[in-house]
Amino acid sequence: MIVLLTGGTGYIGSHVCVELLNSGHDVVIADNLSNSKIGVVERINKIAGNSSVVFRKLDLRDYESLELVFHEFQFDAVMHFAGYKAVGESVYCPLKYYENNVQGSINLLKAMLKYNVKRIVFSSSATVYGMSEDVPFHEYSPLNAVNPYGRTKFFIEEILRDFQTANKDVMVCILRYFNPVGAHKSGLIGEDPTGIPNNLMPFIVHVAAGEQKKLSIFGSDYSTPDGTCVRDYIHVADLALGHTLALEKHKQDSGCFVYNLGRGKGISVLQMVRTFQKVNGIMIDYEFSERREGDIAVSYAANTKAYSVLGWKPENTLEDMCRDSWRWYKNSKLMKL
Ligand code: NAD
Ligand code: UDP
Repeated sequence: MIVLLTGGTGYIGSHVCVELLNSGHDVVIADNLSNSKIGVVERINKIAGNSSVVFRKLDLRDYESLELVFHEFQFDAVMHFAGYKAVGESVYCPLKYYENNVQGSINLLKAMLKYNVKRIVFSSSATVYGMSEDVPFHEYSPLNAVNPYGRTKFFIEEILRDFQTANKDVMVCILRYFNPVGAHKSGLIGEDPTGIPNNLMPFIVHVAAGEQKKLSIFGSDYSTPDGTCVRDYIHVADLALGHTLALEKHKQDSGCFVYNLGRGKGISVLQMVRTFQKVNGIMIDYEFSERREGDIAVSYAANTKAYSVLGWKPENTLEDMCRDSWRWYKNSKLMKL
């Protein structure tokens, strides 16, 4: 298949790109490079055995330039990663998030309709489940996004459902990611946050590298075994595999399909810190601070649907995630990225 990857030079898109190439697909990446670098394309090609990914720099908010790429290639499927993803920023700049994430998605669907592209896989998020304490989250659990970023994901999911209802021959696959971490084993691609990271793993890595003095652990009095928040961390390579399996499974289908992609295992902040220290042999200085506003105590996936329907079995352990994140960081410094 020829697959269009919007946001394909980003963290998750680049890993999915490798997986698609390894499965024999052709890939075209469309990205405005607002949160990624062009050098990723060369490194993807290197990992995937000197393949040649096509890259087009474009912004999904610019419908005319998006149409050009649909005019140029006859896509069999689209995987839609492009969007902004910082929860905190979305609270202060909601319109920026609605415009980029929602309008960008609408433009994409318009182009798909016009150019007769019938399959789309969309990057949604566990944030759509919101603050519920009823864990694990199932695909049918109530949705209650509590910040503008999460609401963009919720609205896009709704738009996709309406789009599919109106276009019965279309296949929509919504993948709700839990907490993606880790990096490709080659050390050539990984998460490359600009500035001070907000998420736990990149922050731990920055402390390990001496770029930040210590990790603040947000809250120590949650009703969890050690008092710190529990999340479902999933290796980005396993996440990437979920995408190719979903496309393969549903390539002849029409309808709207939703899958949680998480390991179904709750890991606390302290567990993560200790595992990182152990596998990498580096001390992570930390202190406890106030709870972070909007955090829920526990979030993890019910993932039996992805297991049973897609045959998806995440194989990487927490140790792998910690090892691969650190390897990628060190390598990215060596490569002077
Ligand atoms: P990322 O920022 O690394 O990748 C997103 C890519 O989209 C970037 O390369 C960016 O340049 C590009 N982009 C943004 N707006 C664009 C636009 N208007 N036109 C063209 N390109 C644009 O993020 P990621 O971690 O790879 O996330 C990919 C998707 O998965 C996002 O939609 C995100 O919301 C979703 N998601 C991510 C996580 C996570 O923790 N990383 C969790 C759940 C869901
Ligand atoms: N966290 C933390 N310190 C940090 C960053 C995150 O204690 O500097 C905690 C955060 O409170 C949450 C967990 O780590 O419980 C995962 O946070 P992240 O932002 O990575 O993911 P999300 O909250 O979106 O699930």
